[in-house]
Amino acid sequence: MSERRPLIAGNWKMNLNHLEAIALTQKLAFSLTEKQLTAVEVVVLPPFVDLRSVQTLIDADKLLLGYGAQDVSPFDSGAYTGDVSGVMLAKLGCSYVVVGHSERRQYHQEDDAVVNSKVKAAIKHKITPILCVGEGLDVREAGAHVAHTTAQLAAALDGVTAEQAAKLVVAYEPIWAIGTGRTATPENAQEVVAALRAQLAELYGAELAGATRVLYGGSVKSANIAGIMDQPDVDGALVGGASIDAEEFARICRFP
Ligand code: PEP
Repeated sequence: MSERRPLIAGNWKMNLNHLEAIALTQKLAFSLTEKQLTAVEVVVLPPFVDLRSVQTLIDADKLLLGYGAQDVSPFDSGAYTGDVSGVMLAKLGCSYVVVGHSERRQYHQEDDAVVNSKVKAAIKHKITPILCVGEGLDVREAGAHVAHTTAQLAAALDGVTAEQAAKLVVAYEPIWAIGTGRTATPENAQEVVAALRAQLAELYGAELAGATRVLYGGSVKSANIAGIMDQPDVDGALVGGASIDAEEFARICRFP
């Protein structure tokens, strides 16, 4: 395992109302020891409407959990009905925001340019983007997964300086493994994660690339986390479905 502190982030997607969010956060916090929460950074990514409740609970009880959002507007304020800005997320104390998730790319037609603008918006407000890249099954079967994901990474970081990219988190999420129960093998994950790190080195130098956490996401469960975390370049996981089950998510966080 690398010296980078592992990060396990739970993307709740469009699940759980604010009361269920409180219950899950409490259960999760009390399922993990201080030692475990120090060894591994554990982050929850609830829907927008749950953020205030999660923030209040984490602050009041000084829980050793991080939290963030699942999306951010490229704009700070204005006539953008339904959107939520980095200014608003920063005010709520969010440390992280997911950007470029395949579900946003697919259902909201977010292309690389939009992803790039959202990365910049997050950085502007000192929120760490969890920048997702990943290929569809057709691309994987054509053997173009490395070229595809490294190009997505470079496009998302266009115009982002090394200083701005210093705290970036990258998540490799093959689309064919998200919510399908079909996990990439640890070797599949390592191949792409290492290529993404090499791309970061090309963009920003070896030091930044060596310090950047690159996660794997796609049907991660307690049964497969150990093999994934065993890979030298994989620094953690972005967990979807399994993150809304407190016991299962806690088991994933206890992988070491
Ligand atoms: C995700 O949504 O980021 C994800 C990886 O989902 P799942 O774990 O359900 O495949």
